[in-house]
Amino acid sequence: MKVSHIEHLGIAVKSIDEALPYWENVLGLKCYKIEEVADQKVRTAFLKLGQTKIELLEPMGEDSTVAKFIENRGIGIHHMALAVENIEEQLAEAADKGIRLIDQTPRKGADGMTIAFLHPKSTQGILTEFCEDKNK
Ligand code: ZN
Repeated sequence: MKVSHIEHLGIAVKSIDEALPYWENVLGLKCYKIEEVADQKVRTAFLKLGQTKIELLEPMGEDSTVAKFIENRGIGIHHMALAVENIEEQLAEAADKGIRLIDQTPRKGADGMTIAFLHPKSTQGILTEFCEDKNK
């Protein structure tokens, strides 16, 4: 597979406003974007950490999957996003290798990325996102 690096880590938080001081004031990272992803019912905040980003995910409503995640497992790492080339090809290859896909076809994610999720039951317990920047 053509996986180059960790594009971002998705971190579930109860409140971006409460979480940001840790990332900005303690670690010294900078938030460069806050974006609502309505169809995912999350508000996101992005910070840069080298070539990797940190994506803070705040649920917008009780029925958000992130709200359910926090209820079950608490705040913390929610998913790992891997940068891939040609996301359609990588998804097909993953499916061929027996990986269960959450998204059969790629869709638009936050921060201008094209994304697709793989099911944690077939990725060693880690909710995994393939991520391709098609604007490059
Ligand atoms: Zn993500």
